[in-house]
Amino acid sequence: MKRSILISLAYITIVSSIGAWGWYAYTADLTKSIGMFLMVTCLQLIVGYITNTYITEKMRKEIALAENQRLLAELDKIEGISTILNCAYCSEPNVKSFIPDEDADFICDKCNNKNTVVVQFSVARITTPVNSILSEPQQTHNIKL
Ligand SMILES: [Zn+2]
Repeated sequence: MKRSILISLAYITIVSSIGAWGWYAYTADLTKSIGMFLMVTCLQLIVGYITNTYITEKMRKEIALAENQRLLAELDKIEGISTILNCAYCSEPNVKSFIPDEDADFICDKCNNKNTVVVQFSVARITTPVNSILSEPQQTHNIKL
């Protein structure tokens, strides 16, 4: 950080010196070239401050947006696997979210004992959601009288 400030100050000084030297070569007036040096220095500081503020603000917004998107993705991931788990010690129902491939231990809200979550696999028949049955076209029967 300090090094970048020193490099910036050196750059500003060099640019201001070139401006002052050019102005001295043009006017042959030392006072005016010192004035040019100070003016170019101030101009660079002002432009640098405005640019730096703009870039910092833009980066801050981008970081905040990326962080929000990361948190939303994390919440989406957790939301799907929240469940009510009864404590193995006191049977108190605890609402917990866990990710299956990570450590799935939790502390009971009531008795403060440490529980571990065990995943069991089971099978079920595939059923058709009610919405898809209702949205299918209705069959009609023509009855001749
Ligand atoms: Zn408990």
